Amino acid sequence: MAALNEDLVFKALYETFPDPVIIIDAERIIRSANNAALRQFGYPSAEFIDRSVRLIYATDAEYAKRLQNRAARVDETAPRTSNYLYIRRDGSTFSGHLRTTPLINDQGEELALIGIIRDVSDLTEAVSERQKASEMLNAALEAMPEGFAIFDREERLVVYNRAYQAICGPAGPALKPGITAEEILLLARQGGHYPDALPGTREGNEWIASRLRDFRYPDGKPKIHRYADDRWLRVENIKAKDGNTVVARVDVTDLKRAELALERQRQELEHKNEALDQFTATVSHDLKAPLRHISMFSEMIEDDLKAGNQTELAENARHLRDSVRRMNRVVDSLLDYAQIAHRITDWTQVRLSDVVSETLTILAGDANDANATFEVGPLPELEGDPELLRRLVQNLVGNAIKYRHADRPPVIRIHGSVLHQTVELVVEDNGIGIDPRFATRIFEVFQRLHKDETVYGGTGIGLSLAKRIAESHGGSICLDTSFREGARFIVLLPRWLRKAK
Ligand code: ADP
Repeated sequence: MAALNEDLVFKALYETFPDPVIIIDAERIIRSANNAALRQFGYPSAEFIDRSVRLIYATDAEYAKRLQNRAARVDETAPRTSNYLYIRRDGSTFSGHLRTTPLINDQGEELALIGIIRDVSDLTEAVSERQKASEMLNAALEAMPEGFAIFDREERLVVYNRAYQAICGPAGPALKPGITAEEILLLARQGGHYPDALPGTREGNEWIASRLRDFRYPDGKPKIHRYADDRWLRVENIKAKDGNTVVARVDVTDLKRAELALERQRQELEHKNEALDQFTATVSHDLKAPLRHISMFSEMIEDDLKAGNQTELAENARHLRDSVRRMNRVVDSLLDYAQIAHRITDWTQVRLSDVVSETLTILAGDANDANATFEVGPLPELEGDPELLRRLVQNLVGNAIKYRHADRPPVIRIHGSVLHQTVELVVEDNGIGIDPRFATRIFEVFQRLHKDETVYGGTGIGLSLAKRIAESHGGSICLDTSFREGARFIVLLPRWLRKAK
């Protein structure tokens, strides 16, 4: 084969090279351009050669950028820094990636600069489309009220939105890509963000462990737990196919509160229905007893009148009157009980010491007759209805006087204390006491352990009333069955009323 003429080879290569090649001299005048360059820029050779290279730059600013890069000797082979906006003869523009190679003579002088310009419009467009899409996605994420984040397979945070940051509470400011899910959980816990995981508690450690388990091995079921200041969070973790974990956090406080309120109402209703059933049964029974007596004694009076028997007439008439009186009392106490139900309107700050001294004044006559002594200890304050609380105390103290022991004068102790947010009020006596078997029954309407009216008068309403009052304050009452020297009642009441949120 004949020796190759290198000039010819280079010329062929130059002319058929697919990308535009332009050679400029030190004055930045175009000295040569290949066919691809003429095609790309749309000039005939005569209008292109010997022109300043400024010709192919779309704007002055773009040309200035090129000159600056040149002066700074920016590496034009790097893909990003050397993209310029070029202009064709017809005014249309395109993004071109410029690669330059200097042509240097033996003395090291730069004779010319060879530039290869590749049209990268498609690529630039694709990149800008991607950027737009990612900006849209970011904007959407930020606008979402739900907390959203993605963790990689090493449990490191990759992406998160502002709502997620807010939901992380004290851990929020520390969020940055790379922080692990466990670190976030522990930081939030340290900041007291989880009421079920207070720092330094064993239950708290278990709670955190269970949250981490949920994160690592999600079972597809969202969990709801307490967080922040008495709020509720719905937590959903999804393991993606690529091993990443997508997490969604939604504040469901309103929903949860509504659900809790509904459940409370349902229980209350159930409770009320049961109470009503029991109430009507005992009421009808207790109303019937004096009625039976009335009918019995009126028949006896009728018989006496028919027989002209004067001796028992007065006695039977007295029984009749007693039965009517009893009936009256029962009806009155029933009315009382019915009216008190959920009557609380007057919530104020109440000093239990005032309530007790008022009660003792009212019961002073009975106490005197019974030769009773009182030992009143410290008594706290609480929020409640003073009139209802007075009636509660009056029923307990009245019973303590009434159910006294025949062998000893009554000594009645009344004292209170505060534990956490609960007020405890204790009324105890040295009377006949109550068999622990009846610890529940005594609080039911008309339930009396001492039926003999002549010894202990009463209608069996007092303790049910006391219970109702305690419960309407969000509290409770019980008999202390461990106390054997008499009867001891313990009333627990919330110190501050929890206003419905
Ligand atoms: P009442 O006193 O009108 O019978 P209560 O509802 O106040 O009704 O009390 C129910 C029952 O509980 C009483 O009949 C009594 O047998 C018992 N009881 C209540 N308080 C005492 C007490 N301090 N000591 C002994 N028994 C009591």
